Amino acid sequence: MITDNESAKMLSSHGVIQGYNGIAAVDDKNQIVVWADAYGDINEAGHLPQILQDLEKQCKDAGISEDIVHTVAITADSGFHNEVNMKYCIEHEIDTYIPDNKFRSRDVRFESSGEHKKKTANWRPVHSKKYFAPEDFHYNHKKHTASCPAGHPLRLNMKNYKAEDGKYTGDRFRGIEKVCRECTLRDKCIRNPQTPFRQVTFFHRSIEGPDFLNMAKEKFDTATSRTMYSRRMGTVEPVFGHLRSTKGLNHFTLRGLKKVSTQWRLFCLVHNIGKLKLCW
Ligand code: SF4
Repeated sequence: MITDNESAKMLSSHGVIQGYNGIAAVDDKNQIVVWADAYGDINEAGHLPQILQDLEKQCKDAGISEDIVHTVAITADSGFHNEVNMKYCIEHEIDTYIPDNKFRSRDVRFESSGEHKKKTANWRPVHSKKYFAPEDFHYNHKKHTASCPAGHPLRLNMKNYKAEDGKYTGDRFRGIEKVCRECTLRDKCIRNPQTPFRQVTFFHRSIEGPDFLNMAKEKFDTATSRTMYSRRMGTVEPVFGHLRSTKGLNHFTLRGLKKVSTQWRLFCLVHNIGKLKLCW
């Protein structure tokens, strides 16, 4: 059996495959790949600080810029939105636009997006049913009390519930079975008709210091940030599309991190040569 200990299991459109993750940083003006490397790791987000440091060094060595990460705006998809990355970018004052994975649900422009999906012969717009979210309940975290949208007090089920390695503390509440069964708002509150009562958990941050995730979210929830992020799709995705469909790199054909990384960079280099030819 042939094995490659440096590779990892990757989720792909063909299911889970053993392989590598090719990552690239692309400039938005000419779609030149300015940095590329491959990782035997499904968690590409864990490499962002290293990617930014490598990018900075590479541009410095090439005489492009002494401080590239502080002279450009950087966008990345929501997979890169985590506490470590946001902390790194905020503390190093790097102008990043990296959304969390719920950013579309907060954007009114996506409210009717379901209507534009898969228009087939029998297509009907999908209006998913909205249920009460924790924000629709009233919660007092100092008194550990809560009431539901129908105005009924909830029972405290679990106090100071810890989540995300203790970063968040929460209180879990449940409705009163008899009240929930007879409630006129039950349809909007409980998904499964067999469920006897509603449960809801409220979290609040329990560690000292800045909340980097929220700071990043607040920065992202502005028209300028969203416009900036919307450019990402037309910047990096065509490069991946070009490498896959025109250059034929549907999968890496070598084994071992060093060889795969070289293969990935060579393909990016060939892509860049094509782009440079267009510029001249
Ligand atoms: S179903 Fe229960 S928790 Fe939900 S609104 Fe009605 S009484 Fe309140």
